[in-house]
This record gives sequence, C-alpha cells and structure tokens, in this order.
Amino acid sequence: MLNLNTPRLILSPQQNEFSLSNIKLFISKLSELDFIGSELGPSADYQCFETGDDFLHQITFLGCSPTLFSADNSDDSKTFISIAQHQQIQFANSSPLPPARCPHCQKTDKNWPLYLQHWSDNNDSFESCPNCHKDFNFTQMKWKKNAGYGQLFIQIHGIQEQLAVPNQIFMDELQSLTHTPWEYFFAI
Ligand SMILES: [Zn+2]
Repeated sequence: MLNLNTPRLILSPQQNEFSLSNIKLFISKLSELDFIGSELGPSADYQCFETGDDFLHQITFLGCSPTLFSADNSDDSKTFISIAQHQQIQFANSSPLPPARCPHCQKTDKNWPLYLQHWSDNNDSFESCPNCHKDFNFTQMKWKKNAGYGQLFIQIHGIQEQLAVPNQIFMDELQSLTHTPWEYFFAI
C-alpha cells in the first residue's frame, strides 16, 4: 500500500464543506487534463495515480528541478497523486505545527491543540479567542500554508514544503471544473 503520509502539496476548495456530487466525473476530467496518469490503486480512502503527461506544466517546482520517481519505487520521496472526498471535514496538517491564528484578529493562539480535541469530540464546538474574545470553530483557524481543512483533497506526494506551487492556470481549471475557488497548502 502506498504511504500517504509523505511530504505533500494539497489542493482543496477554499470552502471547507464543499463536496462534489460526482467524484468519478471530476477524476475523469483531471485525466483529460493529463494532470493524472494511470491509476495505482487505492490506499485508505484515497485513489492513487501516476502523475500525468502535463503535470509539470500544472505544478511549478521552485529551485532545482524535481526528481520524479517511478510509482513502483518504494522510496517515500516518489511523486504520485492521491484524491479523496470525505463525508466530513478533515484537518490535514504538518508536524510540528506553527501556532494557529484567530480568524478574526489574526493573533496566534497556542491553545489550538485543546480546540482540536474539542472539535474531534464535537464538530460544532466553539472557542473564544483569548485576545479579541470573538467566537470561532476550530475549522476557521488560519495556518498560513502549513495546514488546512476540507472534504475534497488532491494530494501530490513527494513534494517538500514550499518547493512547488500549482500554476494559476491550473487553479483556474479546478475552479471551472468545480465552480468553486481552490487553495493549496503543505502537509508532512
Ligand atoms: Zn481573535
């Protein structure tokens, strides 16, 4: 089974609770765009794919050029794509995490592990910011690009943090396919 917990770039709709009625159609469109190649089989809840022929035009690698490993290589640094849609909002994150920020005043709040626990127990739990005292749900916290939330994730594995970004043209294509704007972040 492929290891999904390798360093990765994650693309997800900006709206946390966004989900598609037809994920198969979406995947076939990504195949038509040559973003994904042949299927590697499932891993956990994810469908995994080779990178497609146009992948290197859709993702920009910063600094040195990428080393794309073949999919049957057991090296954790190999590049492949996994796609999943979850029934509930998921928290995708890096470790160790920098402080999260309040969605209202942007002040860092070290209490987030407690909020994560509350949210795991009850998705509707609310917190009160110790700085501005406004209420928020854990899934509204801001992480810059070190974590994020969503139900629909495209994960590009084998990408170290901040070393690759999706092209604006590809982000626009995702938006036109799904009729919702997308964002990206990194997880380890
Ligand atoms: Zn605040």
